[in-house]
Amino acid sequence: MTAEIICVGTELLLGNIVNTNAAYLAQQLAALGITSYYQTVVGDNRERLLDALELAAKRSELIILSGGLGPTRDDLTKETVAEFCSKKLVTDEKSKKQIEAYFVARGIKPTKNNWKQAMVPEGCKVLENHNGTAPGIVVETKKNKFVLLPGPPEELRLMFEESVVPYLKGLSSDVIFSQTVKTCGLAESAVEDRLRDLIEGQTNPTIATYAKTGEVHVRVTAKAETPKEAQKLVKPVVKELKSRFGNDIYSTDDGVTLEKALADLLESAGLTISCAESCTGGLVSATLINVPGISELYKAGFVTYSNKAKRKLLGVKKGTLQKYGAVSSQTAEEMVRGLLAETKTDVGIAVTGIAGPDGGTSEKPVGLVYISCNVKGKITVKECHFQGTREKIRNASVAAALMLARRCVLEYLSKEILK
Ligand code: ATP
Repeated sequence: MTAEIICVGTELLLGNIVNTNAAYLAQQLAALGITSYYQTVVGDNRERLLDALELAAKRSELIILSGGLGPTRDDLTKETVAEFCSKKLVTDEKSKKQIEAYFVARGIKPTKNNWKQAMVPEGCKVLENHNGTAPGIVVETKKNKFVLLPGPPEELRLMFEESVVPYLKGLSSDVIFSQTVKTCGLAESAVEDRLRDLIEGQTNPTIATYAKTGEVHVRVTAKAETPKEAQKLVKPVVKELKSRFGNDIYSTDDGVTLEKALADLLESAGLTISCAESCTGGLVSATLINVPGISELYKAGFVTYSNKAKRKLLGVKKGTLQKYGAVSSQTAEEMVRGLLAETKTDVGIAVTGIAGPDGGTSEKPVGLVYISCNVKGKITVKECHFQGTREKIRNASVAAALMLARRCVLEYLSKEILK
């Protein structure tokens, strides 16, 4: 089955909003092993949407549409798809009741145009919206399947996971199984380069890479008649990835995040951890504290934003700050040394950098961040150069800090084994 995506919305054409729905849908289709060859963005315009539908219906069996399901006059996706498929619009009683309940629960009186959302093409399948009012719709014709989803990303995603995935899986007698190999500290281009031969020769299973902040995930997806056969196809590819990426892989489990992988590693080694942060302002600690049960391992966090705090709380020397500055490898080193002396933990992470947008110089530009890790007295300092907004730089610093800690703990453990 081949698919394509049509995103409806004049805001998208004007560049007022970024088309994150297209990226999400494309990734989901790839993960399901469904090939998509085209993506279209079209404004809130009946004629142009009809043109887009005509073209899509000729070349793809499955057409996923996002947006234009709302109550206002310019929301015309449903009406246009119904017209294109020569279907009448009828009231869906269940949707009408749900819309009513949605408004009652919020103490608001629905307006007349809200009922427009309960109108659906006759004979269609209605997908419940558990995050809003506009139901999703599946219209099937002899040749095509049209899946209409609401524009707001949180509504679209939940509906896709809850209703569209089971629907798509039900279309084929094949079973789809995928496993994600999560790497950290590598660029997406470097990962792809090392996988080129596998990606170029792929048929079943397929291999796709997804970049996240500081991480690259490689998803291996196979189709087969039974779950067991699909798993059997995925297994040797995952094994090959493990041999190519070794310790750069932190997990092959979908539910494990980088912070969870670090926490598991610390737990298995019986090590405790603490953090000292300047430009990340507590984000490294907050990310670690996302992991349930971390209280056994995580002991303390310091946000030492000013030079005075770095001196008072972590014992960074005045001379070091004066000679090298707060953003320097020397300061990062003293921060993490002082941190362990203060907290008596086994592992410490410290971060100091320039998150911008101001404060950079030609010598020390915005995005320069020093991250240090101390494992029982062995200190490693890493100089990083990040790009982008303040938020992006801070998030990249957190990922890099967790990666550095993981690497240093692994090094420490491998030396311990040799002792
Ligand atoms: P509503 O009931 O909220 O009107 P709708 O299905 O009619 O939902 P739209 O009116 O097209 O959806 O879009 C509503 C909002 O959803 C947009 O203002 C935008 O914030 C977001 N949105 C729409 N399409 C996309 C997209 N392709 N990518 C990301 N966000 C989107």
